[in-house]
Amino acid sequence: MIKIEILSMYRDNYCFLLQSPCGINAVIDAGDPAPTINFLDEHGLNLDFIINTHHHWDHVDGNDMLKAKYGAKIVAPAKESAQIGGVDIELKDGYIFMLGEEKMLTIETAGHTIGAMCYYFEDSSALFTGDTVFSMGCGRLFEGTGEDMFKSFAKIMALPDDTMIYCAHEYTRGNAGFCLSQDRDNPDLRKRIEQVKELRLQNKPTIPVSLATEKKTNIFMKAKSAEEFSALRIKKDNF
Ligand code: ZN
Ligand code: FE
Repeated sequence: MIKIEILSMYRDNYCFLLQSPCGINAVIDAGDPAPTINFLDEHGLNLDFIINTHHHWDHVDGNDMLKAKYGAKIVAPAKESAQIGGVDIELKDGYIFMLGEEKMLTIETAGHTIGAMCYYFEDSSALFTGDTVFSMGCGRLFEGTGEDMFKSFAKIMALPDDTMIYCAHEYTRGNAGFCLSQDRDNPDLRKRIEQVKELRLQNKPTIPVSLATEKKTNIFMKAKSAEEFSALRIKKDNF
């Protein structure tokens, strides 16, 4: 099992510090390098890999500093390698990347960006979704279509229900409002919203969240077709 630390950055971003049992460490999406450096220093750890889900600045801006400071290798989707820059290990869909003895499976999830990837650690039941799946939401369609994102969601929904989702933004409260507007009579949604309110009052992250919970509460996971999914995404843009 990997140890996962959720680190806050900027106003509502998260990056994730992963420690494998054999002492190989990685960070996923360190836009701001400071929280990662602080954590590593505090715990006397080194950094071996910097992993990116997609090329947006709030996910990659810390790459150069962390690479220079720790000699870490940058691991990123091959399709976005040129935009990210300095990439040492390029990933394609369905690759297995080894973090120490932990297998990380790459799942290409076009939509938010064309080459965006989610990373699945099967033995730890952990999925890092970047800006593709958010708790009760989905990423904006900057480069892909609604159909792309619908297909990407289907790939994620095929994973085991006990998979824990780590998304890259704390958008949960806002997303919940939209889900509720579309799905008023859903008791599971109301229960999750109460839990989310409580966590936010305590200034705690609302993630990770299980895929099972998302299937019951995330309106985008309830869409039956690409058309329905796309219509929801447009509604959300104007919500
Ligand atoms: Zn993004
Ligand atoms: Fe982002």
